Amino acid sequence: MKKRERKDKKNLLKKVYFFECKRCAKCCSSEKILVTCTHKDLQKLYEYLGSIEKLLEFIAFYQPKNEKHSLLLKEKMKVPAFKTLRGLAYIGLLKKPNSSECIFLKGNSCLIYPIRPRACENYPLTFSLDEKGVLKVGVAESAKLLKNSCKGLLSPASKRTFLKKDVEKLGIDTVRELRRLHYLAKIWNEMVDNGIIVPTVRNLLLFLLEKDNNSLISATVDAKI
Ligand code: SF4
Ligand code: SF4
Repeated sequence: MKKRERKDKKNLLKKVYFFECKRCAKCCSSEKILVTCTHKDLQKLYEYLGSIEKLLEFIAFYQPKNEKHSLLLKEKMKVPAFKTLRGLAYIGLLKKPNSSECIFLKGNSCLIYPIRPRACENYPLTFSLDEKGVLKVGVAESAKLLKNSCKGLLSPASKRTFLKKDVEKLGIDTVRELRRLHYLAKIWNEMVDNGIIVPTVRNLLLFLLEKDNNSLISATVDAKI
């Protein structure tokens, strides 16, 4: 990375610590953003909605249309893909029909704010681990690219919303959740490859909700994490 880019990033991160959401909902209605769901997000939604059938009304299984799209989705989703009867799919929230708005957006408000997915809670921050396992904090590409999109990030804020310790907590929780999600994806995809389970979306959700009748699978996963 060039010196200038490093400086830009440092400055941007400084601004993030003074980030204050303006509640404009632009990130909830951007065509450039797909909200991903972790197993924890699905568990919270399931508790809220009450059934798998209801849950299926609000989530989507995003599938690559071709190789180029596959790379794009992989980059964008930042979560693992799961094998289904129709091929590899990424789980995320649905958008409203013929709209780029999130299915849970009403006016400028989020209908599930207290249980919004991890990706929404973190936005515009992103978290990852470097090769040494050190937590890295970043800024979502969409927030950087759409200059006027996230005013909370780019305009000076009157009060601090993200204090350093809050960012660290968000990051640690996120990384812990992502590690488990990747592990679950590995187990699921291996089970599908070995013909142990039929990869219907219902079976996949039961597996991710860890409420399935195949408690042996969950027990095995638990034992290995
Ligand atoms: S779940 Fe809520 S916060 Fe997340 S994109 Fe949808 S409306 Fe916005
Ligand atoms: S675009 Fe930025 S300021 Fe607007 S709601 Fe999203 S996070 Fe908040």
